[in-house]
Amino acid sequence: MSTTPAGPVSSPVADHASTTTGGAAREHAIDALRALSERVLSEPRRDALLRVLRPLLYRGDSVSCPCCRNDFSRLVTHRGVPNVRCPSCGSMERHRLLWLYLQQRTDVQTRRYRVLHMAPEASIQRILRRLPNIEYVSADLDSWRADVHCDIQDLPFSDESFDIVICNHVLEHIPDDRGAMSELVRVMAPGAWAVLMCPIARQCATTFEDPEVRTPADALRAYGQEDHVRLYGSDYRDRLEDAGFAVSVDRFLDDIAPEVIERYALRRTHDLFEEDDIYIGRKP
Ligand SMILES: [Zn+2]
Repeated sequence: MSTTPAGPVSSPVADHASTTTGGAAREHAIDALRALSERVLSEPRRDALLRVLRPLLYRGDSVSCPCCRNDFSRLVTHRGVPNVRCPSCGSMERHRLLWLYLQQRTDVQTRRYRVLHMAPEASIQRILRRLPNIEYVSADLDSWRADVHCDIQDLPFSDESFDIVICNHVLEHIPDDRGAMSELVRVMAPGAWAVLMCPIARQCATTFEDPEVRTPADALRAYGQEDHVRLYGSDYRDRLEDAGFAVSVDRFLDDIAPEVIERYALRRTHDLFEEDDIYIGRKP
């Protein structure tokens, strides 16, 4: 596996420590720019503007993004965690990990595929849209990035329409996740596969869902994020299998050299869950 990136490998953590003041100034500049642009620009235009300006504030060669192939001094802080978001394409750890996985463990760049991308992440969407072998459709309830606006619990696509489904960090937001899983299976052709990454509390055998958790603050405490409706345990796999998927779990991150993990900033630690297991669901 060729996971060694070109160029010298230095520590983005060390860079962060040595430039804390400059880093804080950059974060403030980005926040101010975002606040100003929110008042005067539509979301797509704001996104395009920040994609041009942010890389200028993060110029350097300590960390690399495999999605957009740019180098930076460090990545943008996200939810208080430093070194998370790519200043250029907005990728987070899991998006960079997913693209490395798709490149190295699938033939998504060479074979003709019909791809359905649910709740499209900008960094992955930009790559897939450019692949000439891919017939690409994205869908979301209301995102401006999506081609089709729809509910994952009731998809407006015919049976067996897609060869690949990308549906990451979606199901933990969906009230009827079993219904959504069944819908995904329905629109997949026999032999099609889906990437179904989610936040998973690996140490818990059973998924935690509590009807008493009603407010965003409750959800943050119980599930780890304000807009999650459950915290999946290791029985996430069982739910997928109940819906009709043949499931495999690839701990791809474990096969990547530590210096590559650091260079691409691939690891994220969270108090309640892990999010780097790559769940693949095949339709038999
Ligand atoms: Zn990037």
